Amino acid sequence: MAIERIVDTSAHDDDGAEQQIEVTLRPQTFDEYVGQERLKRNLRLAIEAAKKRGEPIDHVLLYGPPGLGKTTMAGVIAHEMGAGLRVTSGPAIEKAGDLASILTNLADGDILFIDEIHRLGRAVEEVLYSAMEDYKLDIVIGKGPAARSVRLDLPHFTVIGATTRTGSLAAPLRDRFGHIYRLEFYTPADIAQIVRRSAAILATAIDKKAAELLSTRARLTPRIANRLLRRVRDYADVNGDGIIDMPTAQQALQLLEVDDLGLDPADRQLLSAMLKNYGDNPVGLTTIAALTGDEASTIEDFYEPYLLQIGFIERTPRGRRVTPRARKHLNL
Ligand code: ADP
Repeated sequence: MAIERIVDTSAHDDDGAEQQIEVTLRPQTFDEYVGQERLKRNLRLAIEAAKKRGEPIDHVLLYGPPGLGKTTMAGVIAHEMGAGLRVTSGPAIEKAGDLASILTNLADGDILFIDEIHRLGRAVEEVLYSAMEDYKLDIVIGKGPAARSVRLDLPHFTVIGATTRTGSLAAPLRDRFGHIYRLEFYTPADIAQIVRRSAAILATAIDKKAAELLSTRARLTPRIANRLLRRVRDYADVNGDGIIDMPTAQQALQLLEVDDLGLDPADRQLLSAMLKNYGDNPVGLTTIAALTGDEASTIEDFYEPYLLQIGFIERTPRGRRVTPRARKHLNL
């Protein structure tokens, strides 16, 4: 990432202490998990049915922009099923052998969470979908003429896959998921509730108005809501009595340069550069990436989803275009 951003939806920039706080803020049950009502309703039903039959739940694919609660939901499902949870990610499983060792170490009913599942290599993907299909693993032992193939029985496990893009998933893998759900952006009311819940866990006093203010700046994303809350809390501890009221929240957000729609300097730079160089014409993704010095995937995963959601960018067959609405917001 070219610029360090307060509104970054990735978890990677958080330091150890911040990650520790994130863990304590993570909901563990459906009741603690705010919003996403449709997703919760469907999964509750699936879990209840699976429990009644005494079987593991069918494989689940969760997709949507980063920071909306996919990893958290995997934990909730494991908790509600009373199942063991093993967490890994697409890029972490480099070889088919890596996956084989993970799979053979699972117990019956365990849940295997694979983040960024669209980044699995093709060879690994093939092993995975046959394992998901019939709980068997074909491995080749030995080399050359002495090599032979053995078929191992695997425990009955559940894969929960998370991805920002279902489009990048091979069809045979996608077809192995019995449940496929898209996580939606949260409503400001949901985000305000998450802010109040997190403040209570962190033993920080925040008034209703200040929580509402944060909820309009958090890009409708829980991860950003929690991060903003932590920064505003730091500000309140240093410059006041630790209580987050309206003036404190406003001053802190101004310092952080997050505007009233949750845009930060990086968003504003991106939109103005697009407008300055291309006006109302569509721009290709790689060109946009070149404008900001980011990878195309960073634009797609971290800038664009929210800008599309609020109607500041639109997708056309010839690229992305900045809308009049964004122009107005930027005063250009
Ligand atoms: P993703 O896997 O989609 O990138 P995470 O599950 O890591 O997102 O969520 C980021 C953080 O946001 C979590 O650590 C959690 O504290 C918070 N969070 C996510 N979803 C919710 C929710 N529905 N209710 C409350 N907090 C949430």
